[in-house]
Amino acid sequence: MEYMPNFQLHRPKTSEEAVQLFQEQPDARFVAGGTDMVVNVRRGIERPKTLIDLSSITELKSIQENSNGLYIGAGVTLKQLASNSIVKKNFAAIAEAAASVAGGTHQQYGTLGGNLCLDTRCLFYNQSEWWRQSNDYCMKERGEICHVAPGGKRCFAAFSGDIAPTMLIYQAEAELLGSNGSRRIPLCDMYQNDGMDHLTLAPHELVSGIHLPKNLYGNPSRYEKVRIRGSIDFPLAGVAIRLKMDNGKVDELSIALTGVNPFPQIITGMDAYIGKCLDDKKLDMIRDNVRKQAKPMKTTTVAPWYRRRVIGALAKQLTQELAA
Ligand code: SF4
Repeated sequence: MEYMPNFQLHRPKTSEEAVQLFQEQPDARFVAGGTDMVVNVRRGIERPKTLIDLSSITELKSIQENSNGLYIGAGVTLKQLASNSIVKKNFAAIAEAAASVAGGTHQQYGTLGGNLCLDTRCLFYNQSEWWRQSNDYCMKERGEICHVAPGGKRCFAAFSGDIAPTMLIYQAEAELLGSNGSRRIPLCDMYQNDGMDHLTLAPHELVSGIHLPKNLYGNPSRYEKVRIRGSIDFPLAGVAIRLKMDNGKVDELSIALTGVNPFPQIITGMDAYIGKCLDDKKLDMIRDNVRKQAKPMKTTTVAPWYRRRVIGALAKQLTQELAA
């Protein structure tokens, strides 16, 4: 780690003020808990001249129920998310994912918004300044080539947030605040398949909160991931599953992944199982479908073939568990 560089720190009291500050300082970055951002700044990966600290904005920290469902502010910490009784009861996978992020101290500071907007990660990118310099950096930051796929023009750095896939299976919508006011979009539209630029947010746009729909309250769900060090690491591969059975047959099934693509990915083709029993053959088909759509690259110390195998196995195991 390098010493903390000099930068200007702003601590606005409202979301509007935060967006206004960003417009005035185009190279600024938002920071909330800072559990990832501060590490990146100390590694020289992020070199902002201005940081806009969102931690004093009270309106971002609310969890409110209304007739349409549940609203969770982007400033709610992962610890609060993991222990909130409404979330635990109705959106089990979200609480489970929040409780699985890194260690307890990270969960106390890390926020929902920060986890959803987590930068993509790669073995050749999340390194110290001298390490990256001695490897001529890479396309994602100051370099010319991709060490994962030399000759290519794309970055395959993996999205590794735990919360996004669990919100995708519940059809979450993101509330965004920008210079033209607020707008609401499906959370899946907030991401794109580009490791260098995986968020579709407009310049200066702030994720202010997430809406979860009432009609999916109580749908059974699970989240599970594999990682190298259970106490702290990012997921090598993670799976979120929502499965509602009706008289032994599938009523609703949704699967989303993390850690194996530059964006949190919803698995397609799950409608084919609606109205069917989940026998061994169907469970194997689900496993194979997940393996086919996951596209892990050599962005971690663990081989892509292993991450592809394990993510399919996890998906099958969790589906079996929820169906029982
Ligand atoms: Fe860099 Fe390639 Fe890794 Fe992207 S995938 S961070 S361009 S080495």
